[in-house]
Order: sequence, then C-alpha cells, then structure tokens
Amino acid sequence: EQKVPTGRGRRRLGVMGGTFDPIHHGHLVAASEVAAHFHLDEVIFVPTGQPWQKSHKQVSPAEDRYLMTVIATASNPQFSVSRSDIDRGGPTYTIDTLRDLRTVHGDADLFFITGADALSQILTWRDAEELFSLSHFIGVTRPGHLLTDDGLPKGGVSLVEVPALAISSTDCRARVAQGEPVWYLVPDGVVRYIDKRQLYRGE
Ligand code: ATP
Ligand code: MG
Repeated sequence: EQKVPTGRGRRRLGVMGGTFDPIHHGHLVAASEVAAHFHLDEVIFVPTGQPWQKSHKQVSPAEDRYLMTVIATASNPQFSVSRSDIDRGGPTYTIDTLRDLRTVHGDADLFFITGADALSQILTWRDAEELFSLSHFIGVTRPGHLLTDDGLPKGGVSLVEVPALAISSTDCRARVAQGEPVWYLVPDGVVRYIDKRQLYRGE
C-alpha cells in the first residue's frame, strides 16, 4: 500500500492524459491499477487536443478520440472523461490540463498517471517545476521502457508496477491499416467504432 502526503478527507482524483488514438487495454489497466493502489475515488481520462509532440504526424479527429475514450470507460463507475484539453483547442500542455482540473476540482488531490516512456520526458514539458506543485505523479511500468524517477523532484513521483501489456496505439493503427485484428487489444466497442468510422485505413 502506497502512502503519499495528501490532505485528509479530500477527494483523490487520478488523471490519465493521452492521445488515445485509439485507447487500448494498456491505458485501462494502468488507470485501474493506480486507482486501486492509491485508493483513488475517480480517474479522469483527458484526451489531448492536437499534441505538440505529435503535431508533425496525423492525429485522428478529437471527437473520434473522445468518443472512443467514452466507450472504453463507460462501464466503470470510477472512470470518467474530460473534454478540457479538446475544448481548449490548440496543442495540449499538461500544465494547462492540471490548472483546469485544479479550478474545477479545488477540493481534490490530483494524481497524474503516466507510462514509463512519458515519465522520462517530463522535464521537457512546459513549466516542469510547477507541474509537481499541482499534482502528484505516478509512473507505471511499460514494456520496452525503463521506469525511473532519476532527476525528478524527491517526493513528487511514485513508481508502480502494473501487469505488462505490450500494446501501443501506434501498433493498433498499423494493425488496422494492414487488415490485422485489434480484438482484445482494445475494448470491443472501440473495435466496432474504428470499423464504423473507418479509422486508420489509409495509413
Ligand atoms: P502512441 O503509440 O500513439 O504514442 P500510446 O500507446 O503510447 O500511443 P498514448 O496515448 O501516447 O498511448 O499514452 C497515454 C499514456 O498512457 C502515456 O502516459 C503512456 O506512457 C501510457 N501508456 C500507453 N500504453 C501503455 C501501456 N501498454 N502500459 C503502460 N502505460 C501505457
Ligand atoms: Mg505514446
């Protein structure tokens, strides 16, 4: 059981940011595991606007990524989806995501969940020092990436081992483009939605 310094009796909100193009079971397991380990009341999934790291690539329309995230999380009463980054428009910076959530949920402690690959990039994010004053960070294991808090503020980050799912959105998109299945890599409803909207066909 993990102990992190937070206010007594305050709501504990996980924040799972991502492009979710498409959302897959790696994202969902990470959120579920962290919610259990850290006794979170809720995990809010926040699909990005046009992400600055990926602005050179084609990213699916925000509404498609938002709806896939809603479909994937709808059955879990602890999961919800925020339109904050999508509605703000433009590139997403995590600092803005956290400021917005702080405003809406002033009474809550925030726990930002990130995979090992994203955690290792965190010092390159906008306003890196301020990030740690707005939220605790939780890094989770991801196959193919080293999970370390080297160089990150002491006490600002916790590391958690989660079941290893070697799934990436990049691989899911490539599979669809090649006519290979994504069943059981993404939730059933997301398979159906990708098919219905003909996503990832021309890649
Ligand atoms: P892409 O291949 O397009 O970058 P992705 O699979 O990395 O997609 P993102 O939306 O970029 O998915 O990731 C959102 C967050 O989820 C990041 O913090 C990332 O590290 C984490 N994450 C993604 N896949 C996994 C996984 N299989 N296990 C653990 N964490 C993951
Ligand atoms: Mg990624």
